[in-house]
Amino acid sequence: MSAPSRVDACGDRLRALFTHAHPDDESSKGAATMARYVAEGIRVVVCTLTGGERGDILNPKLDTPENNARLPELRKAEMERARAILGVEQVWLGYEDSGYFEGEPWPPTPPGSLAAAPVEEAAARLAPLLRELRPHVVVTYDERGGYPHPDHIMTHRVTMAALDLAADPAALPAAGPAWIVPKVYYQMGFHRRRFAKLDRLMHERGLVSPYADRLRDWQEDEMADRLTTFVPCADYFEVRDKALLAHATQVDPDGPWFAVPLDIQKAGWPTEDYELVRSTVPTALPESDLFAGLACPAAASADDWRI
Ligand SMILES: [Zn+2]
Repeated sequence: MSAPSRVDACGDRLRALFTHAHPDDESSKGAATMARYVAEGIRVVVCTLTGGERGDILNPKLDTPENNARLPELRKAEMERARAILGVEQVWLGYEDSGYFEGEPWPPTPPGSLAAAPVEEAAARLAPLLRELRPHVVVTYDERGGYPHPDHIMTHRVTMAALDLAADPAALPAAGPAWIVPKVYYQMGFHRRRFAKLDRLMHERGLVSPYADRLRDWQEDEMADRLTTFVPCADYFEVRDKALLAHATQVDPDGPWFAVPLDIQKAGWPTEDYELVRSTVPTALPESDLFAGLACPAAASADDWRI
């Protein structure tokens, strides 16, 4: 028997939209949160902005010429497996991966890629989904994208522009009534405080920490003061790992993602963490639930967006 659905103050089933740049990002950023909310009967939708066509094969056992030749097709199939494991719905926004390049100069942006698209154009593709789904919560990346891949930075910009467009009654008249998303978050899971805690527990257990180099080069915890919301989801870390492993070309099962035993992760940092950046509802910070304080969102106005 499935759990009864969680509802808002109007009795409407709660809904959340998570926007991500590539297939696999949903399984490494906020996946345990999503799996927990699905188990609670909340409708969770992932919108993946690109197909991940220009990614590298990061699992040495699968890095063959045949797999490289059919990477777009493989990544679609991997996404579908991860989607089923997490229990979420998933849609593609339809852009191509812009590719990631280290060094200078950057190569020209490929035509058809997300980074080549005007923000307004991509936002006009995403806003109808916001109006159709009417999510109570939207989660995206912060203004730096979490890391400097052009698709991650664009995912932030496009999502924020789409929120404004969906809320504007004069915009996109064919896409249905305006929708003001009551709560908007940036996902902030990769902050120094978490890695430092896990690093210390690894040392205490006599294990080799995968974070030592990273922590040495990273003295300032620029995210620490921004965290507002800590969602307990340790019971879903196994589901998160299974979903990530479903992206078999993108993750090395013997690599650093899986180097910290789950019992250390569960004891050391049992939450996934977020920054609340817009809210039409009053809420006491810090929170432990993305849906805290939700009233009847149909009554909200964009003037209420604060934080
Ligand atoms: Zn990505």
